[in-house]
Amino acid sequence: MNEENLKHLKEVLSIPTMTWGEDLLINYLEEYCVKNGLIHSVDEIGNVYVTKGIAEMYPCVVAHTDTVHQLVDMVVNEEMLPNAQGEIKLSLKAYREDDGSPTGIGGDDKAGVFICLKMLEHFDNIKAFFPVAEETGCHGSSKADPEFFSNVGYAIQFDSTENDTMSLTLMGVKLFEDDSEFFTSVKDVIVEHGITNWYNHPYTDTMKLKELFDFSCLNFAAGYYKYHTKDEYVVVDDVQNTTDMAVKVIGILGEKKYTYNNKSLLSDGYSYESPYDYDDDSDNDNDDGDWVNDSGYSDVFM
Ligand SMILES: [Zn+2]
Repeated sequence: MNEENLKHLKEVLSIPTMTWGEDLLINYLEEYCVKNGLIHSVDEIGNVYVTKGIAEMYPCVVAHTDTVHQLVDMVVNEEMLPNAQGEIKLSLKAYREDDGSPTGIGGDDKAGVFICLKMLEHFDNIKAFFPVAEETGCHGSSKADPEFFSNVGYAIQFDSTENDTMSLTLMGVKLFEDDSEFFTSVKDVIVEHGITNWYNHPYTDTMKLKELFDFSCLNFAAGYYKYHTKDEYVVVDDVQNTTDMAVKVIGILGEKKYTYNNKSLLSDGYSYESPYDYDDDSDNDNDDGDWVNDSGYSDVFM
């Protein structure tokens, strides 16, 4: 990654944001859009919608603006830490400004936000969607504006872990058809970039978009490690790798609609194996219940 982009990545990762406390990052995105002359709007709950260029059909990139961490001022340090293959790589990790203790960097999903900004820089015609409150139940993407998505051909989210993963399904909902033109045309590029672990994942926003709309979706690794912990870190090369891959993938898929209507759960044989217990509404957000781990935080959302 070049100096300028590394500086930009650190800048984005340094912005404190949490579920229903995304204001600083929303303001940053608005200022970014103003500076770069991008059409943008923010809806009543804080979802940010960006449009660049004029096209009949747009690719749309997606990353959520909340993190599971606290709103604290942080310092982002460069450290040498292992990637998924055990290689020691330049990484970014965050520490509290007041007492120097680790505070999660929130690469989940600020690394994804950074990759989306790179896509907005690279392509002439593209949309970006930055929903709030993913981590407690995809509340932002549940309210996604149908008008904005009416001319979206497909959506690509950057909210999968480490450097080699992507989602096949989210809570059993398929994001794309395996033997479709949508997937077969980009499969080789995905594999060449080392994204070889394709998982049945828990929730993230593209699942909500898949439920609401009729286009195909992908969800790629964003380069974050130990997500949802204070020791979370981001491997710089991995963010660059997904950025490079996404440029190729969107270049191949182009400004075209890839319809995929399946919204249903996979057949009865499918089971999502969660290590977490289903609990009552522990986060008091007035939904029916939450999947929680020992820390008490819902961990069924990526
Ligand atoms: Zn996430």
